[in-house]
Amino acid sequence: MGLLPVEQALAMLWEHTPGPDREGLSWHHALGRVLLEPALSLLDDPAFDRSSMDGYSLKAAGTHEGSRLPVTATILAGQCPSRPLELGGAVKVMTGAPIPSGADAVAPVEDCRESGGFVELIRPVRPGENIRYRGENLRAGETVFYPGRRLDALDVATGIALGIERAAVARRPSATILATGSELVEPGTSPGPGLIPNSNGPMLASLWRGWGGRLAGETCVPDGEEELEAAIRRGLESDYLVLSGGVSVGERDLVPELLGRAGVRRIFHKVAMKPGKPIYFGRREDTVVLGLPGNPVSSFVGALLFLQSSLHKRMGLPPLAWRTRHLAERHESGGGRTRFEPAVPVDGGGVNLLRHMGSADLPAWRGAEALVELPAGRAVFEAGSPLRVLLFRHLGRETGA
Ligand code: AMP
Ligand code: MG
Repeated sequence: MGLLPVEQALAMLWEHTPGPDREGLSWHHALGRVLLEPALSLLDDPAFDRSSMDGYSLKAAGTHEGSRLPVTATILAGQCPSRPLELGGAVKVMTGAPIPSGADAVAPVEDCRESGGFVELIRPVRPGENIRYRGENLRAGETVFYPGRRLDALDVATGIALGIERAAVARRPSATILATGSELVEPGTSPGPGLIPNSNGPMLASLWRGWGGRLAGETCVPDGEEELEAAIRRGLESDYLVLSGGVSVGERDLVPELLGRAGVRRIFHKVAMKPGKPIYFGRREDTVVLGLPGNPVSSFVGALLFLQSSLHKRMGLPPLAWRTRHLAERHESGGGRTRFEPAVPVDGGGVNLLRHMGSADLPAWRGAEALVELPAGRAVFEAGSPLRVLLFRHLGRETGA
């Protein structure tokens, strides 16, 4: 199989990823979840005519500087008026309290003097002043949120304020993450000669959870047929099986063959990109299988593009949001395949590429906040060139998996 252009690989991945499974949740437990159905307001907003200030509700017509009106009652927030406004009188109301019928304005306390049971206005009041009328923001039955929205803290609060109780959301898919390689030691163990810590496993697990997925397991497997085969079989019980390492053409790169033996249908293997060429994508029943190259930068870039895209489809989100940014400084690099480079946004809306030593140089990405695509076949990018960019610093959203 030849090298697939990135766009084509992403399109195939989208097509072959199953759509979302629906589940119902109480709205106030739906933080980080993606809506699959429109959410409709159950209340008018505001739900009743209410005061937006502490003040005196009254009839505005005929008021002038020096008007004196008897204060006939006080309504606190949470109370209801027991009777209509008396002609020529005023009812003291606190912020958020319902307005008595017959009143059409609220004179704020700052513009009044109260003594001996009377309120004196220091200026006339206009009709409608400081009253928020029932339904003026939004009516019951209106759509507040549309499918595809990932609910954040403000959305949770807004829905609750509008009386929404249930959310139809996408089930969070589970993933088993397998880091393959006989050179790997678990984090926290000091590596012996020739060995390295397994950093990809925790990276992929953290990304997955940050994006809203559930983690079924994260383990490290040596490059031995039996261990790998058993781990793959268990991993295929999750919605996603994500592997790092062993997908290229080295002596011990067993993953593609073992996946085939386990009944995984290969959809593509090898994409025309740098880093990350040997990416593998397959499917068995509803389980999505993604094999990422072991070099840490390749794993990260592959996860950002392919794992994240697939998860978007599986969770009912729109495809990844690429943006256009202009290169702040001229950049030269070998042409050939599409390249993905670490970058930082700079003042004025552009991006700067970070220097790095290739696909093993994860530390060079410490300051990176964006992935920049350098299109295939071009070696020189002048300052000001528009490039496609994927921002990633804002994407991690802990959902408490
Ligand atoms: P592979 O794709 O299996 O050929 O791995 C390529 C290189 O990536 C290996 O030689 C390791 O240096 C590195 N590598 C593989 N797996 C991991 C991992 N889980 N964590 C960190 N580095 C890894
Ligand atoms: Mg390996």
